[in-house]
Amino acid sequence: MSKVIALAPLPAPGLGLPRAGSLDAFVRAAAVTPRAPGPAADKRGRPLHDLRISVTDRCNFRCVYCMPKDIFGRNYPFLAHAELLSFEEIARIARIFFDQGVRKIRLTGGEPLLRKNLERLVEMLARIGDLDLTLTTNGALLAKKAQSLRDAGLTRVTVSLDSLDDATFRTMNDVDFPVARVLDGIAAATAAALTPVKINMVVKRGFNEESIVPMARHFRTSGQIVRFIEYMDVGATNGWRMDDVVPAAEIVRMIDADMPLIAADANYAGEVAERWRYRDGMGEIGVIASVTQAFCSSCTRARLSTEGKLYTCLFATSGYDLRALVRGGSTDEALGNAIAAIWRQRSDRYSEVRTSNTARLHKVEMSYIGG
Ligand code: SAM
Repeated sequence: MSKVIALAPLPAPGLGLPRAGSLDAFVRAAAVTPRAPGPAADKRGRPLHDLRISVTDRCNFRCVYCMPKDIFGRNYPFLAHAELLSFEEIARIARIFFDQGVRKIRLTGGEPLLRKNLERLVEMLARIGDLDLTLTTNGALLAKKAQSLRDAGLTRVTVSLDSLDDATFRTMNDVDFPVARVLDGIAAATAAALTPVKINMVVKRGFNEESIVPMARHFRTSGQIVRFIEYMDVGATNGWRMDDVVPAAEIVRMIDADMPLIAADANYAGEVAERWRYRDGMGEIGVIASVTQAFCSSCTRARLSTEGKLYTCLFATSGYDLRALVRGGSTDEALGNAIAAIWRQRSDRYSEVRTSNTARLHKVEMSYIGG
């Protein structure tokens, strides 16, 4: 499947929306431009700090907000194995990103635990250097894999879980997967010291608002941190409407009414989740308000798609084909220069300029670009 998506007409330049780019132009520019010392910063002064790597575009869930069943059905053209970056290619690119300043790598997808022998990739990445090496999973296979991932060098996991109510959870994942098995996965990750385990709950109005308070209550004493995520207009297939978003402020109000909260400082500059502590000192939650309070100004994330395209925004419509450079024999230096040149050109700030019109752009799917 070719994922250099045809560009829908974009609004006027200068809005900071993700735009198409010619990789050739960056490679040529990088070859003649003397390299600036130190890590690259983009046009808005944001450094390159995080890399999300999608290791597969396939998933064993069909979450209604991410991979709706009617689109991602039997005939959906998932990537063929030969199109995926190999572990060696991923590790090489990751090391070059590390040289460009990346200190946090998250493996994602699709469902990353579906990629065979993922532990081997984790081992290769762990050898790169002093990295926060994490993974986001739906938890279905985590009970089996937590210890081997930890042994391979993974530092933490984030588990997606949209409800503790079994019927609601089965409706959200749309493959009738029971919540108990995800809870087993969370327990296994905790026992394997992949901690702190974070729990991501996407809230979609009309589906799981009722689950917000029980979820907060359950995890507040268990040592895991729940982050409530506003439903976003990622990709082009989830039929997103602003009316389906439950704003983070409403989520905080609902929890606060039951278990009083107090705002807490960010752990570090640019933290995506806004933190809230319980007033009685027992635990904390996070809210990720990517729709109602965009945090583009502190976004330091690049994304490497399953087939090796570099995206500089989750809401991008096209990416830069690093696999072509890798398979075309580029040196590490040429690759590093191309990545730095692409990052320096970056001006994306989609969430700050989102409208119902931009939501209709042909953005790449989250399962492919990596959530
Ligand atoms: N399969 C893995 C999982 O379920 O965690 C990793 C990939 S998934 C795309 C990564 C994260 O993106 C999950 O926490 C998921 O809930 C979140 N996500 C997917 N679609 C979303 C949407 N439309 N709005 C907000 N978050 C979304």
